[in-house]
Amino acid sequence: MTDAQREELSKLLLALHAELTGKAPLKIEPNRTDEARIGGDEDEQPLNEMMQAIASSRNRNMDGVLKRVVKALGKLRNDPDSFGECEDCGDPLPFGRLKAMPYVEFCVECQGKQDKPKGGPTRKKLTDYT
Ligand SMILES: [Zn+2]
Repeated sequence: MTDAQREELSKLLLALHAELTGKAPLKIEPNRTDEARIGGDEDEQPLNEMMQAIASSRNRNMDGVLKRVVKALGKLRNDPDSFGECEDCGDPLPFGRLKAMPYVEFCVECQGKQDKPKGGPTRKKLTDYT
């Protein structure tokens, strides 16, 4: 990976980090246009609670991404040479994959293994038995 590519991914990661830690991506009061009415209308409560439940379950998912973003940023700073390599097999990750998900840790093949760690019809390769 070139310095320019690393720089590009670093910017993407920082932007993602800002988005995930800021309040920008999730607006939980889409209908609230008049601040003065907050608390004055009991009927809006159930809807707001539902929106908040949705937002917080989305936030839980985003949490995993944020952790990986932080990890990737740390790696860029501390171990830039190995940034962009699969953490399992060490193969260089395609730049296109990194651009789409700069926090990605594994190549497609190893990601598949990570996604289904136990059970399920996992096809074993001969090399897995050596
Ligand atoms: Zn791999």
